Amino acid sequence: MKIAILPGDGIGTEIVAQAVRVLEALGQKFEMETAPVGGAGYEAHGHPLPDGTLKLAKEADAILFGAVGDWKYDTLERSLRPEQAILGLRKHLTLFANFRPAILYPELVGASTLKPEVVSGLDILIVRELNGDIYFGQPRGMREAPDGPFKGSREGFDTMRYAEPEIRRIAHVAFKAAQKRGKRLTSVDKANVLETFQFWKDIVTDVHKEYPDVELDHMYVDNAAMQLVRAPKKFDVIVTGNMFGDILSDAAAMLTGSIGMLPSASLDANSKGLYEPSHGSAPDIAGKGVANPLATILSAAMMLRFSLNLPAEADRIETAVKRVLAQGLRTPDIYEAGTTKVGTVDMGSAVVKALS
Ligand code: NAD
Repeated sequence: MKIAILPGDGIGTEIVAQAVRVLEALGQKFEMETAPVGGAGYEAHGHPLPDGTLKLAKEADAILFGAVGDWKYDTLERSLRPEQAILGLRKHLTLFANFRPAILYPELVGASTLKPEVVSGLDILIVRELNGDIYFGQPRGMREAPDGPFKGSREGFDTMRYAEPEIRRIAHVAFKAAQKRGKRLTSVDKANVLETFQFWKDIVTDVHKEYPDVELDHMYVDNAAMQLVRAPKKFDVIVTGNMFGDILSDAAAMLTGSIGMLPSASLDANSKGLYEPSHGSAPDIAGKGVANPLATILSAAMMLRFSLNLPAEADRIETAVKRVLAQGLRTPDIYEAGTTKVGTVDMGSAVVKALS
């Protein structure tokens, strides 16, 4: 089993190193090969997604990704910025289904900004479409407005579009995920205003006919944002488009106390996937040894379960993470009085120790 290790920038290198230690401690034979991506790719080969890195990602059975980005690259032209690497990998490998579980560990109930009764026991899954929507729709650009009340002024524009097969494939993935959980799916749209999302709603409703055991409801994205902070436990699985999913999944992340706790998986039609923490490269804390590595370690567990068919090993990692939290070990982002503050490496060591 070959795993491409793409640590990226900022805290990416620190947290991926801990996840690699955990994988090595499982006693399985993984072939792991590391390559630069993001700002590191640009520095090494002049491009955020160098050819060699893309080749490795294509050959591998799964990809473990850290994070990319740094403010120092903000002046580069868009195609060379680190964030293009992740968009490129999603597109080249057709990773269209993003799974972001938001689970609140009982020990971290006090780390959430919401009241304990609102979030305790939270276990929801957001399934976000990753390959389409306004993030990829053409045409896009900046120009002189050709018409309208501001005709002749400069304007920026993007195009929101979804093709029927794109909606069908993500809907199937979401219904199947709901079947394995609480059998409830909420499709989030903006059908009251956007044609694209009226179409989305119609297609999801049609796909539902094949999953009569799953209860489906539809919710507008503004209401979904409100319900996520008002009564998040009402949800089981949420499916939505690329942009709404981007925003809602970060809101869901904070319900659990810290974005440093949340893993994610981006899968293709054959369950090959890219696994990464839900957060970015956190340049504000990079190099300080304080980043929380648990989201990346839990992403490695998702990789074992979804792409490498090693569910028992995935369980071992998740149980080890629960153990270290029960022992009271906390990185600064989840620290509370009465617990023990540790850094990135010590947290990784504690998970490795708790595996046995
Ligand atoms: P961020 O997620 O990097 O950081 C937001 C806040 O959360 C910061 O205060 C940071 O210190 C904290 N944080 C994030 N991860 C943490 C962890 N593991 N432990 C403790 N604290 C953590 O988002 P940002 O600051 O908006 O973006 C920074 C850079 O990351 C930008 O260049 C952005 O484009 C990039 N980014 C990359 C990805 C990705 O690689 N998939 C995703 C989001 C942002």
